[in-house]
Amino acid sequence: MNCDQYKDLIQEFHDGELPRGNEAFLFTHLSSCGNCREFLKMLNLSSSEIKHETAVFPSSLDKKVLRSAAAIEERKSFLTRNIPAYVTYTLTLILIGFLFFSLSSSSDQKRELRQVINILNEQNKLVDEQNKQLQMLMNGLPEASVTSELENKIIINANM
Ligand SMILES: [Zn+2]
Repeated sequence: MNCDQYKDLIQEFHDGELPRGNEAFLFTHLSSCGNCREFLKMLNLSSSEIKHETAVFPSSLDKKVLRSAAAIEERKSFLTRNIPAYVTYTLTLILIGFLFFSLSSSSDQKRELRQVINILNEQNKLVDEQNKQLQMLMNGLPEASVTSELENKIIINANM
């Protein structure tokens, strides 16, 4: 199978239509193919995914997630130009976190989610690298540097 065919499977997985028996097959490819991981990441970060996932939660949780995401976006818009990376990173972890706990009754689903989380964590390491480079750059700008570093720590503490 080539990557275009795998991307069809990824799309099905994303839509919740991939038969369970095919998931290990897909994950095996994802573990060795950066292009397909990137494709899954893009799907996960798209607004349709956010709607899809939050539809599972109680509406009070929806509002909390949306409010906190909006609040983070508002605060950060005054701080740096790297807002989208932080916001999407945070939002992804929040969604994964809620998804993990909302499905924690089934060990099968837990295992699948861990696989997805591992894939996302791998990609988020790249974001971490960018954040580190940003922080190094911003060490030359004392005020902004302190704020950015604190913000970043808050994000990590809230989601790990
Ligand atoms: Zn591929």
